[in-house]
Amino acid sequence: MTAPFLSPLAGCSTESKAETLKNWAGNLTYGTNQLDQAESVQQARELVKKYDKVKALGTRHCFNKIADSDDRFVSLVGAPEDIVIAVDRKSVTVNSGIKYGELSPFLHEKGFALHNLASLPHISVAGAIATATHGSGEKNGNLASAVSGLEMISANGELIQLSREKDGEKLNAAVVHLGALGVLTKVTLDLQPTFLMTQYVYENMPLVQLQDHFDEIQASGYSVSLFTNWQSQSIAEVWVKQRADAPSMNQKEWLGATLATKNLHPIPELSAENCTTQMGVSGPWYERMPHFKMGFTPSSGDELQAEYFVPRQNAVDAIMAIARLGDQVGPYLLTSEVRAIAADELWMSPCYQQDCITIHFTWKPDWASVSKLLPIVERELAPYNARPHWGKLFTMAPTELEKHYPKLNDFRNLAQEYDPQGKFRNAFLDKNVFGTA
Ligand SMILES: Cc1cc2nc3c(=O)[nH]c(=O)nc-3n(C[C@H](O)[C@H](O)[C@H](O)COP(=O)(O)OP(=O)(O)OC[C@H]3O[C@@H](n4cnc5c(N)ncnc54)[C@H](O)[C@@H]3O)c2cc1C
Repeated sequence: MTAPFLSPLAGCSTESKAETLKNWAGNLTYGTNQLDQAESVQQARELVKKYDKVKALGTRHCFNKIADSDDRFVSLVGAPEDIVIAVDRKSVTVNSGIKYGELSPFLHEKGFALHNLASLPHISVAGAIATATHGSGEKNGNLASAVSGLEMISANGELIQLSREKDGEKLNAAVVHLGALGVLTKVTLDLQPTFLMTQYVYENMPLVQLQDHFDEIQASGYSVSLFTNWQSQSIAEVWVKQRADAPSMNQKEWLGATLATKNLHPIPELSAENCTTQMGVSGPWYERMPHFKMGFTPSSGDELQAEYFVPRQNAVDAIMAIARLGDQVGPYLLTSEVRAIAADELWMSPCYQQDCITIHFTWKPDWASVSKLLPIVERELAPYNARPHWGKLFTMAPTELEKHYPKLNDFRNLAQEYDPQGKFRNAFLDKNVFGTA
């Protein structure tokens, strides 16, 4: 999972081998393999100053071209870990390229926790907040909502520092940065006291239960995920992650579903070896909140992903609309997941000022078919104000996207301030964010 470009040398390294450079899923070959590994903020600044066009690259887990470049990359993944906890402020400042899976055990050991994690711990902090990466939990904002400070290099090489305290709304503007504002070097995250969690999985909950009990299901845990392939009238697996100090969900039957008697994988055919421990065994927050363990391949590894955010009040209608597509989408799916995310104040977050649910699709790696199905899914979800995940596959037109982001023009102005010549832009941003392609 580690980027294969880490220099054993102390200085920054430039990769220009003939091999191509791909994203994690392998569905995308980037437009260049020119990658500079910065080992320090100073090196990153020099690189930004040196090049007319450059793109920061994280752990390469996006499925679309948001991270792509035809020119060159700079990466801070693998830069020395420099984790500074401010106990009085309950915050931690990290190098932007650190992975949640590297940071979390350290925090736990020191008595702290993050409020939320994605399904996998393998991703970098800068890359995750760029795309509003989220976990689940109706009271939990996405991962970016924990950011209380940022340090980044603007296009002219200047070091910009923003904090919640000092900059307020400007920080809200910059956190879900889409890779468009600068090269992030440091990120400060809110902490809370560490806690233990358990997770229970329930099998085969009749879909009809969602009609009357959706709120109850979402409120049953700190983080709740529903997995199905939409081909039967039931939710195959309901994962309920609870704080160990909350009343336990340990009941054999729940809303027509039965408690699993062994650990399961969200893709039922796959071994649960790669998954975090279930069956009510208590463990640290970072070993229960993600579905997948660090050190193992998350999900299937051979897949495509798409995901849509729907305002919470439209949740059940949107879910039922997708259920009606079951026969069409089911054969092409490995699994599909429904999660809940709390509203935030981050301008480019799909949950800006509204609680959401997400409907996620882990597709088989068959782009010819998936590319035909995405417009169908998007058409069905359109009446429910669906917007796509910034880091996953979608076909929605930029004019449609624009309708969902009331702060888009302000974000464009901010990007213009930090990057007037478009040093950090790429074709994805030109098309979907700046409307110039
Ligand atoms: C198996 C799997 C499971 C996933 N599960 C979830 C999930 O549970 N929830 C969810 O929301 N998403 C999920 N995702 C999507 C993923 O978390 C996001 O796409 C995330 O952005 C990936 O982070 P990254 O570091 O790999 O970013 P990259 O793909 O490397 O880059 C993403 C963006 O961040 C920018 N960027 C990266 N580093 C910097 C930096 N230092 N400075 C400035 N810009 C930077 C890039 O330019 C680009 O715009 C999953 C993906 C996979 C492959």
